Amino acid sequence: MRGGYALSVRPLLPARCLRALGLTACWLAVTGLTGLNAARALTPADTRAAAALVAAYPAFLQGVTDRDLLWRDGTRMALARAPAGTYTQRLDAPGLLDQLDARYPACSPLSAPAFLADPGRTRFTALFQKMYGGTAAAVRAHLRPVDWLGQTVLVTDVNGAASSLRAVAAEVARHPEWRTYAVPSAGTFLWRTVAGTPRRSVHSYGAAIDLHTAHAAYWAWDGYREGERGVRWRNAFPVGLVQTFERHGWIWGGRWYHYDTMHFEYRPELTRACHS
Ligand SMILES: [Zn+2]
Repeated sequence: MRGGYALSVRPLLPARCLRALGLTACWLAVTGLTGLNAARALTPADTRAAAALVAAYPAFLQGVTDRDLLWRDGTRMALARAPAGTYTQRLDAPGLLDQLDARYPACSPLSAPAFLADPGRTRFTALFQKMYGGTAAAVRAHLRPVDWLGQTVLVTDVNGAASSLRAVAAEVARHPEWRTYAVPSAGTFLWRTVAGTPRRSVHSYGAAIDLHTAHAAYWAWDGYREGERGVRWRNAFPVGLVQTFERHGWIWGGRWYHYDTMHFEYRPELTRACHS
């Protein structure tokens, strides 16, 4: 993807809008055209999150401006938000800034997340596809075997994910009491969408691992609908196992209101608190 959604239409703004409609109506028209809203300035929190993203993926990302994420190959992605919509609509088609809103409590104690707190679950697809691959074949070219406590699993070597999982495995192997939760893994790479949604799963990029399903809790299996109130969190996975993943850059689906406790994905931009 070249340029940003909002950037590409900015020249439409002045003439037609200021003349007849007034700026507000005009801006609504433009955001309707682009689907994303880059109108407001970045907050300090936005800037910090963008910097963390750049630091986490140095092979691809170079920096940020007040409007764009800059890639080393010259690509610019707009730091924009999806227009106001429901929780589900925003998850289905977020802007990059919506992804950067995540406040993931890395290496903190485990507890039930607040209503709709799903840090890391909002993913700007273009970012991931540009790094890991936009097709199954493109992703597959980067998959490497990882010895997961005696089971061979395939994980992408992009961004160092495979070697990171090997480091997790070495630590988990020193805790025999965790083995029952860790193996067999229920899967790593699979080019698929998140069940029941148009969203591409991080399993598609070979940058996620599901642990033993026998211990898993998943909101949808428990009969909840996405976005409903009263989802009751439950979890069997040990905090030490979770934090071992987090120290190596993997976030856990058990920290989501929409819990998915066997799921870990490589998101080093969200786990820096483990090292501060
Ligand atoms: Zn998963």
